[in-house]
Order: sequence, then structure tokens, then C-alpha cells
Amino acid sequence: MKNFAVSLAVAATLLSSFVVAQDGTPTIVQGGANPYTCDPTKCIAPKCLCASQSPPGGIKPADAPQFVTITFDDSVQPELIQTAADLLNVQNPNGCKAKGSWYVSMMYTDFALVQQWFAEGNEVADHTFTHVGTPSAQEIQAAADMLYSYAGVPHGMLKGFRAPFLNYTADTLKEIQAQGFLYDTSATAVVDDNYWPYTLDNGMANDCWTGICNPGTVNLPGVWEVPMYAVLDNASVPQLMDVYLSGTPEDVTNWSQTNFDRHYNGNRQPFGIYVHPTHLTNYPGLPDATAQKAGVVNFIQSLAGKPDVWFVTNDQLLQWMQNPVPASQLANQTYMQCQKPVTPKEICNGLETLNITSGVVSGPLLNACNFNTSNFATCYNCPGSAPTLETPVPASAVANGTSGYRTPLPDNCSPFWWDPVAGQCLCTTSSCAYQDTALPKQQNSTNGTSSGSSNGSSASSSGKASGASPGPVVASTLSIAAAIFISLIM
Ligand SMILES: [Zn+2]
Repeated sequence: MKNFAVSLAVAATLLSSFVVAQDGTPTIVQGGANPYTCDPTKCIAPKCLCASQSPPGGIKPADAPQFVTITFDDSVQPELIQTAADLLNVQNPNGCKAKGSWYVSMMYTDFALVQQWFAEGNEVADHTFTHVGTPSAQEIQAAADMLYSYAGVPHGMLKGFRAPFLNYTADTLKEIQAQGFLYDTSATAVVDDNYWPYTLDNGMANDCWTGICNPGTVNLPGVWEVPMYAVLDNASVPQLMDVYLSGTPEDVTNWSQTNFDRHYNGNRQPFGIYVHPTHLTNYPGLPDATAQKAGVVNFIQSLAGKPDVWFVTNDQLLQWMQNPVPASQLANQTYMQCQKPVTPKEICNGLETLNITSGVVSGPLLNACNFNTSNFATCYNCPGSAPTLETPVPASAVANGTSGYRTPLPDNCSPFWWDPVAGQCLCTTSSCAYQDTALPKQQNSTNGTSSGSSNGSSASSSGKASGASPGPVVASTLSIAAAIFISLIM
């Protein structure tokens, strides 16, 4: 359904007179010209960048890196993270492993796996708690709080957001800014609007058929939009997510290659491979995905090995956008390195040994958090009750000061050097130092159930002061949300 809807939406941008509104209702709009304007003499990098089809910094296309971004959406589970690892099993030109971005929703997510994914240099980003389109502030913040409390992802390292079903509005983007995110990646770029990432100081330049580009609709200085780059299939119909569902593996590989060449031989805009790993993972009773997965893996491996093709996270891409260098200099950039922290002992930082048996994650340093409706492992404290949208981080099961208590990640230690068991930061040099400069954190005053709890795992709410409406309060436990989620993703 989602794939179909997105195809309709991006097809509409080509037709430009007939469009499908974000809720699927057909709507007629006037014209179709892109009303976006931006003056590059006033919008100055690195804080501001106009939407452009040309590489930033005056770099010639032939000298620009060809970035490939492989992104994964929804829950993080053992079988799914294995699928992601199989797709990312290629190297960048500097010998580091390819990296990917995961837009994580909370249902079924195992936070020990999120922490492992993160510690291996991949990106963790926000995809809401319940997986709803046009999400409320609460939906976005609940996911951020859980990713901090159970996976040790600091708010300052949680930079990206993708709206479930790519269903966002100007209010969604405003909320992203209010909560301190660096970027959104929910918009679609096709051909005429095939822009490199840009800041929203001058508004949106993609998805203009929705009216979102109209003057005054979006004005968010410093917030980046990383467009999702559609590919055209054999019938020139734009395809965006899970393109392998739209043809035989041979067909999909052929038109994916044609589109990659269009980027590579053109202006080198990033090339995206947008995956719901559930569609490439075999489950009993569901169609065999082996051939589709092999097609994607083979395509990715065919792209690797070119000296100017780099598989990066959207976070890495934006670090380059803010300080662009020719492809020949990319290998030496700090954000492209892949050294892992060498701690004097094994600590629970995502790099520790994990055991996965029958889909259950365990390890000598991990806590197992088991509820009737959700089970996950974590280096941090288990909540005393199942997380809900209203109380995503309930009071911890073990009180501060008692045996077994895990100390939450402080804002002055890198998550990769933090030992939550000992409550100790093992980083002793400036090279590993980290200070989280995200919005000031404060106790979550909106959920009373956590008050009076330990100052541990519940103390993670970012200090959002946007005044934005929290949206309708839905009493969704993980179990209810999970049921909805299952029906939506299929
Ligand atoms: Zn999703």
C-alpha cells in the first residue's frame, strides 16, 4: 500500500496538475510550478544552503563523491539487522565498512541491537513511537527518549527523522526543529526536483504538489531536508521505497542501474536505497524473499569498488554537505573514519558480545526486559512496566542505589566509552571526549507516572519548549500499537 501510494505521489509530481494529497485524497492544484526561491548570496554555507541540483561548494560533478545512502525503516530485530548487515557487506574506498541509517520505531525493537548498530558506526534516527503519519510532538519525543534510555543514544547524536508513511506536514517539520533534530528525510525528489540536501531557511523545494513549498509555509533556519531520491522504472514511473517489490529482480536491477548512472554521470546527487528490511527477510508463512534480497545485494556490490562511490549515513552525508571536499579528499575526513573504541575492559556499550537464540537477544552484560507485550534486551535499566506513548520511559525496575542499578548515560561522556554497570566514563583523552549539547534535558513533566522515580532512566526527556500541540492522546500500549503496526506495514 505504502509503495503504491508513494508511486502515485511521485508520479503526480511529473504530471503536476493532478496530485494525490498526503491522506490519499485526490486533489487538484493550480499550476505545478515550484514556488521555491533562494538567494545564494544571502544563504551562506555551512549554516544555510539553497536547494540545488549541483554539488555544493562549487565542486564539479566529476570531482564530487557519489554517495549511496542505504536506509532501513521501522523496528530493529535480530532477523532484520542481519538483513541490513547483508546489504551493507561492502567497503568504502578508504577500507571502512559501508554504513547505513535506521529510522527506528519502537514496537518490537530490541534496544541492545540498536546500541550495537550505533556502536558499529551506523546511524540511529527517529521514526516515532507508534509509527503514525503526521505524528504528534509526543510521538517523536517518546521515541527519542526510549532510544536514549534503553539504547544509550544521546539526544545530540539523534539527528534525523523520517515520518512514517513519509506522511508529514509543515507542523511536523516545525516540531523537528523544536526538538533539536538536524534534519528530516521524508520528502521525495524525482527528476525536476532532484536536489542535493538543503536547509529549510527558504522553505521546502520538494513535494511541492502538496503546497508545502508555498511561501511562508516552512521557514526553519538550519534544519536540513535530505530528499529521498526516487528511481524511474521501465515505464518511467517513479519508485521510492522497497523498489524490489515493483518488478522481477532482473528488471529492478536494470532500471536501478540506469538511474544510478543518471546520478553518477550527471550531477552526482546522492543515490538512495530505501529498505523496509521485513520485505527482504524470510518469515514462515510469508513469500520467500531470497531472490529479491539477492538482487539488492548484488546491485549494491556492483556499485562498490568504484573509487568515488561511498556508502554513507545521512548524518555523514550532511557533515560533507556542511564542509564539502572533492572525492579525492574524503577518505581522510574525520567522519569517514572507522576506528572502534578500545576500552580497557568489555563494557556494555554496544560492542560487547551478544547471543541471539531463537530471535532472543542476550548477553552477560545485558538486562532482559520482559513484558507480556514486548521483550527487549538493554545495557540500561529495564522499565518497571511496559513503555507506552504517554510514559515511554517508566520508572526503572531497579531503584537507584540498589544492586543491579545501571547508571544512565551522562551528557559529558561518549556513549561508546560509558560503562553503565560501573557508572563510569572510560574515556580519558580528548580524542574520545564528548559533550552532549542537545537541548537541555529536563524531567518529563508531562507524565506524572515517572515522578518520584529514580533519577535514572526516566530523566531523559529533551527540553522541548515548542508549545506545539501534543496531539491527541492515545492510550496505546506496545501491544495495541504492535497490532496496528503489523497491519500497516504489510
Ligand atoms: Zn515506517
